[in-house]
Amino acid sequence: MQFNLALAKSCVPHSKTWAVVKANAYGHGLNNGMRGFAAADGLALIELESAVQLRELGWTKPILLLEGFFQPEDLKIIKEYRLETVVHCEEQLEILEKSADAIGLEVHLKMNSGMNRLGLKPAQFRKAFERLAACKSVKKIALITHFANAEFATHGVLSVAEQMRVFQETSKNLPGERSCANSAAILMHQDMQGDWIRPGIMLYGASPGGKSAAELGLKPAMRLESEIIGIQNVLPGEAMGYGSLFVAERTMRIGVVACGYADGYPRHAPSGTPVLVEGSKTQVLGRISMDMMNVDLTSVPDAHIGSKVILWGDSLPIDEVARAAGTIGYELMCALTPRVRRIPA
Ligand SMILES: *Cc1c(COP(=O)(O)O)cnc(C)c1O
Repeated sequence: MQFNLALAKSCVPHSKTWAVVKANAYGHGLNNGMRGFAAADGLALIELESAVQLRELGWTKPILLLEGFFQPEDLKIIKEYRLETVVHCEEQLEILEKSADAIGLEVHLKMNSGMNRLGLKPAQFRKAFERLAACKSVKKIALITHFANAEFATHGVLSVAEQMRVFQETSKNLPGERSCANSAAILMHQDMQGDWIRPGIMLYGASPGGKSAAELGLKPAMRLESEIIGIQNVLPGEAMGYGSLFVAERTMRIGVVACGYADGYPRHAPSGTPVLVEGSKTQVLGRISMDMMNVDLTSVPDAHIGSKVILWGDSLPIDEVARAAGTIGYELMCALTPRVRRIPA
């Protein structure tokens, strides 16, 4: 994590860094994220309870709520725990205007520069800025937007350059620090950054898309590991697992791995999804169960009960597993369930 954070900072040496730790630090554990990103200028996340937890764990630098608050009562907590908050819609603005007790708030006004997820449309943005500036409870306003397609140099529908143009034009001459870049923009659009960057996935060593993590110089922060707990020898014509999806064409030695969708391993990973057994690359066979999966031991003759299995990690990129399962590294990380023990490196 420290390595990847240093890499993000070196891409944009003049910007400050919000290390994004939403979704339990992308599945790595909030505490591990906090310790790994001690050198960041702030931590950014969605969940109010986790923000409070970060304070209780001893994080004293800024914390930013990326979706802001959801009800007026949240403001008390925001104030008490010295959190910074995004404001992305008129409803949040109204809550702030009505609030008497949110004194000294640092607000990040979000612009919808084309992605049409969160944020005020350019036509409403400057008016919203004025209203915020008039709020007694607001001490400081920063400006923020988010890119839809930063993993591409350019994009036929909505490019980074176009979003940046809208953001800059709309916010022209407004005071306040700017923040735009997610991991993909940090790595691939070094001229489109702002005063603060917001890296997430790259800090955990997976690719935001485009190039592979290795090509981008990232190091995986997570290794998902289990072991062989059963072995079966199957004959030609025999099937394995629920639905009997995989039928052996020859005699095969099969390993049963203690990892399944209750751990967050994707149930839709098909036969052929890569795994490492005793360091050798082999593959998933048949359907993933709740707590187990079958793997081919043909190429790993010395595998035995207790053999170490790596589902993803340094020698098997999470993005490769994700691709086989039709998803992205982000989803695999976030899907890890609480029963998977997080052991800090
Ligand atoms: C999640 C998130 C990020 C980080 O995105 P990555 O693609 O993981 O780098 C940045 N900004 C906002 C607003 C986010 O929600």
